[in-house]
Amino acid sequence: MLNVNCEEITNAYLVPRHKFTYAIGCFEKKITIYSQQIRAFNLAYFLIKEKKVNKDAEIAIIGGGISGITAAAAFSSRGFRVTLFEKSNQLMSLQRGETNRFIHPGIYDWPLEYSIEELTDLPFLNWNAEMSNDVVSQLDDGFKKFSQLIKINLSGNVKSIIEKGDHVVLELDRISNNRFSYPIVIYAGGFGLEKDNLKQLSNSYWRCESLHQENLGKSKTIIVVGTGDGGLIDCQRAVIENFDHEKVVNSIINNTEFKKLSEKVYELEKGIYSISDPKAQAEKLWEIYENLLIPNDLAEFIAAHKRKDIDKVILYGKYKSPLSLRTSLLNRIVIYILLYKSLIEYRDEEMTKRLADELKKDENVIIIERCGTEEVWRKFFQYGVDFEKQLIEN
Ligand SMILES: Cc1cc2nc3c(=O)[nH]c(=O)nc-3n(C[C@H](O)[C@H](O)[C@H](O)COP(=O)(O)OP(=O)(O)OC[C@H]3O[C@@H](n4cnc5c(N)ncnc54)[C@H](O)[C@@H]3O)c2cc1C
Repeated sequence: MLNVNCEEITNAYLVPRHKFTYAIGCFEKKITIYSQQIRAFNLAYFLIKEKKVNKDAEIAIIGGGISGITAAAAFSSRGFRVTLFEKSNQLMSLQRGETNRFIHPGIYDWPLEYSIEELTDLPFLNWNAEMSNDVVSQLDDGFKKFSQLIKINLSGNVKSIIEKGDHVVLELDRISNNRFSYPIVIYAGGFGLEKDNLKQLSNSYWRCESLHQENLGKSKTIIVVGTGDGGLIDCQRAVIENFDHEKVVNSIINNTEFKKLSEKVYELEKGIYSISDPKAQAEKLWEIYENLLIPNDLAEFIAAHKRKDIDKVILYGKYKSPLSLRTSLLNRIVIYILLYKSLIEYRDEEMTKRLADELKKDENVIIIERCGTEEVWRKFFQYGVDFEKQLIEN
């Protein structure tokens, strides 16, 4: 039987220096929709099991994204009263309405055997791998029966969370009676929006755009800045003809050559798990990939689907290679093959605002910034309640 220490588990969710404020995934590295849902279920389960929540008490959840609604449903299913605060006007507003991004629950664990399972196995709020908006629709359906039981405050932007004595005070923006007190608060506010350092008006990863469509005019040069999964996927979108995220993922995971190659890479990469420095990791990974024997059929298959309306695709990153263990193995291999076949170019050079402005003087250049999210709340929680004040003062 699995021997787990419930106290240790609930403590792992506690926000540092707080006693009654828990966060879902804020301090974790591997963040996917499915993993956030698992965290939400586990947190609810262990708080209830450890009797850290009282049946008469009301639980406040901040954030109506997928992890927030999952936590709200989990508590509500066990008879707890829940109030959910969501700053935008709709639940799951990040992924809602987006039709080009394919979401698969297990793909970040590929090529492990279970990773290709398309349906989640949660107690409820399950979903099947689909395009973003379709996943939201599935979750809307699953959430319907809970939404009657939960107090949902849309446009409820929580401005501060302060623990006072044995309760937590939430302060909200823009409404008159704006202070609410709860014995327990769960922060499911996510990771913020993507950084916009270059001010090139890049759409968020979760917003619909037409990068994958034929350019109805001059040939374009596409520059992608950032080597996280968002950047690696957008490079594929920029260079592969008629890019359909779902079809690409499915054709890769169903290709036996690709699977064999990935299993080999997976084993080789284990040797560098202990290297945490991203610079050293990028170099070591490159060495591993350079020594791989890429099956010719596979490389040719990918090359045969190169777009003809694109002049060049250039990926900018900080390190010697665009490879990192933070990204999915599937994306790493595809990017390596694109580089190997010279279908994209990689530059380990800092993309500054000045350089971006210079490049954008050419109207045929498109710049997409994918450099992670702001994570203001992570800093806020990590460095204490005065941090936000310091941020504003500095
Ligand atoms: C570029 C990129 C690509 C990604 N690709 C994938 C992918 O392919 N597959 C995958 O599984 N995951 C992917 N992810 C991760 C995915 O976005 C997250 O796992 C998921 O959105 C986390 O859900 P969440 O509910 O925890 O947070 P969010 O979705 O961020 O939801 C948080 C909610 O809280 C609200 N909120 C925030 N602050 C407050 C406040 N103060 N008061 C009230 N409400 C507040 C926000 O408005 C938001 O609705 C990607 C992320 C990025 C950045």
